[in-house]
Amino acid sequence: MEINVILDRENRKVEIEKFNKIYKLNIGVVRILGRISGRIFSKISQRILAVLLIGIFGLAGCSENPIGDSAALAIHDHILTIDSHVDISSDYTYLPAFDPGKMTDMKVDLPKMKAGGLDAAFFVVYVGQTARTEENYAAAQKDAIRKFKAIHRMTDDLYADQIGLALGPEDVRRIHKEGRKVAIISIENGYVIGKNITLVEAYYNRGARYMTLAHNGHNDICDSAQPKEKLGDDKAEHGGVSPYGRQVIAEMNRVGMMVDISHVSRDCMIQAVTMSKAPAIASHSGVRALADHPRNLDDAQMKFLAEKGGVMQLVAYTGFVKIDPARNAALDLLTKKVAAHYGLAEDDYENLEKTEDWSRGQAKIDQKFPIATVKEFVDHIDYAVKVIGIDHVGISSDFDGGGGITGWNDASESLNITRELVERGYSEQDIAKIWGGNLLRVWAVVDQVAAKLSVE
Ligand SMILES: [Zn+2]
Repeated sequence: MEINVILDRENRKVEIEKFNKIYKLNIGVVRILGRISGRIFSKISQRILAVLLIGIFGLAGCSENPIGDSAALAIHDHILTIDSHVDISSDYTYLPAFDPGKMTDMKVDLPKMKAGGLDAAFFVVYVGQTARTEENYAAAQKDAIRKFKAIHRMTDDLYADQIGLALGPEDVRRIHKEGRKVAIISIENGYVIGKNITLVEAYYNRGARYMTLAHNGHNDICDSAQPKEKLGDDKAEHGGVSPYGRQVIAEMNRVGMMVDISHVSRDCMIQAVTMSKAPAIASHSGVRALADHPRNLDDAQMKFLAEKGGVMQLVAYTGFVKIDPARNAALDLLTKKVAAHYGLAEDDYENLEKTEDWSRGQAKIDQKFPIATVKEFVDHIDYAVKVIGIDHVGISSDFDGGGGITGWNDASESLNITRELVERGYSEQDIAKIWGGNLLRVWAVVDQVAAKLSVE
């Protein structure tokens, strides 16, 4: 497993395949050794030994980059790791390129989760904001259902033996103990409920456990941190949360869906956290003091979220980790060029990123203006821990939604985050909190609040 080096996509694929082969081989060797010696190896020690054997016997081409210290490895293997924001394609599970059981170009699939020791992920039913017409509401709901179905296809049909769908925090722990990966469903953009509040419960029943109130562009629930000029958005439409949004938040509290304030305007964030009867989350947000982006949270917002018992999941998205205006300008230009060339909308990232022009252009931009590093990302974690405490901080990648940094550019590299945390002196207990413990605690409180509301 080439954890320390940046590899281009092709190389990375080859390396992960190699890792998996050698890992499997070594697991076999360990099991045989275990049987011969008559000792019972726990599953965990088998996995650690297998990786150590890779270190001893080496993996072609990476002898100069050893697997790293065993402390980080042991902790990583021992704790439950959750990535709170992973995007999926509209063709997820429907096309071979988006088959999560295979080694794909996606940043998260089952082989990469296994190689990187990533135990659980929130798979996101994301729908972009469009003009609020009856036709578009219907289209957004149709797109959402297709993504819900895709995640269920993965957990219920195609790969039930490898990954299970969690509907509550206890499910996450149980499925993890069973030795399977864990999928949780979330919604990004409350736009998918349109003006039909009963859809909150309908989506909850399909498995959604958090909903990001808005995305880029205002919706009927609240204002976005990034208004969409193209849709005629003013700086603010509702001055925060709309009266309808207030009802939606109450309904989310009632059914037990976490309120996610990533992407929303500062006013919306403060109001939503105030209104919500349960703690809120930021499923993928950065520290504004370190990267002055309107999407990020300033110190006062962070403190308020934590005071109300919530959790901030720091995000490994270059644009929210460090501000690089030259890189942003280059990306804007590329977006405009590729969109014009292929006749696509400038915010149709899913299709823009599928084009060869995009890949080529992006590679050039990455070379000239490097993406953020694991160290820069963990600086955000450090900062958040200092400002709001170890109990209110978590991790998200935003993989396949623009996320990815040098050293954590797909799920197979997840150990690097743990390694950096260990190097900075975090204990196993702290790392377990950051890698998901805190988020599960908040989720359990959200469930308790819902239970209480249902008897009132
Ligand atoms: Zn997002």
